[in-house]
Amino acid sequence: MKHATQIKIGVAAHHVTLIALLLFDLVDAWAVNVVLACALMHVVQAEYLHRGVSHRWIRFDGWRQYVAAYVPHLLCSGSAFAFTLAHRTHHVYSDTERDPHSPRHIGVARVWLTLWPVFAAPTGIVRDLMRHPAFLQAHNYYAVSCAALYVLAAAVSFEVLAVLSLTCVLGFHRAGLYNTAGHLVTSDPWWLRWLTRHQRHHENPAKV
Ligand SMILES: [Zn+2]
Ligand SMILES: [Zn+2]
Repeated sequence: MKHATQIKIGVAAHHVTLIALLLFDLVDAWAVNVVLACALMHVVQAEYLHRGVSHRWIRFDGWRQYVAAYVPHLLCSGSAFAFTLAHRTHHVYSDTERDPHSPRHIGVARVWLTLWPVFAAPTGIVRDLMRHPAFLQAHNYYAVSCAALYVLAAAVSFEVLAVLSLTCVLGFHRAGLYNTAGHLVTSDPWWLRWLTRHQRHHENPAKV
């Protein structure tokens, strides 16, 4: 997957969400849709992609590898393989020049917009994923499968497409906030503690 593809999907999702905001009934439909998108975003991003795949809380054997590799497409923020490669490298080289998305080295805007430089991951850091063909397959067909997902959602209804797009938009900005404030704000204010225990997570990655 080219990095530009990920950016284009994110931009498209922002546009669909904006159109949906203009078209939907802001009181009724959006209350439900926002809750749905928040729940989907949290489950896929925090529980599945971060804790489950990147920190190995779920099993990848047999058919489970396909679930683990393809469920993250619902978030449209990169394949499970790409996310895990970057996230594990971020843990190893955190806040150094080799960190893929350190706000201290490449700035807040580039981190937030995922305009990260090409980075060198430690050897064998995704060896466990390489043992399961579903991860590379899902990575190689990421753009096609995301496009298919969006077409399918649009075929069902514009509302489903809007919820999927909002999920992508929320996930995009939540990751931007974690990856910037989580590293730059060292005073541990309540709002950041409420949103993410990012510093604690870096001190002890088992606590996610
Ligand atoms: Zn971090
Ligand atoms: Zn982590």
